Amino acid sequence: MTRTNETRGAPDPSERNVWQALWHGFWQRCPSCGVGKSNGSFLKIVDHCAHCNEALHHHKADDAPAYFTIMVVGHIVVPMLLWSEVAYKPSYTFHIITWPVLTVVLSLLLLPRIKGALVALQWANRMHGFNPDTPDEDELAKEKLPG
Ligand SMILES: [Zn+2]
Repeated sequence: MTRTNETRGAPDPSERNVWQALWHGFWQRCPSCGVGKSNGSFLKIVDHCAHCNEALHHHKADDAPAYFTIMVVGHIVVPMLLWSEVAYKPSYTFHIITWPVLTVVLSLLLLPRIKGALVALQWANRMHGFNPDTPDEDELAKEKLPG
């Protein structure tokens, strides 16, 4: 199978810079060109980049974005909560209002960005269907289904 370049204006698809892809993905941009949007809505990844037509529908992020978001937000909020309690001993009302609000806001801000970064990581490492030299896992699964 020959490798076809289905992109225009994008770098050579044989060279994929992982850190650059992560950066683009975190800012919800196409991991290939960094111009087109990778997220069509809050968490929905677009099928193809509107700028370079790179196929992004191969991703299999599953629960990983939520897992990493919980891990990151927890490592921000819990130390801040403990530090504020030790340093200032704020009222319970402060704790009840501040930490849940901060947790929700950080989670909503980070979740789509972490999903974009994970999709970009899969793209950069040619995981799942992102490698044009291997058959698409979804197509293979469809072929195995009876009927
Ligand atoms: Zn693109």
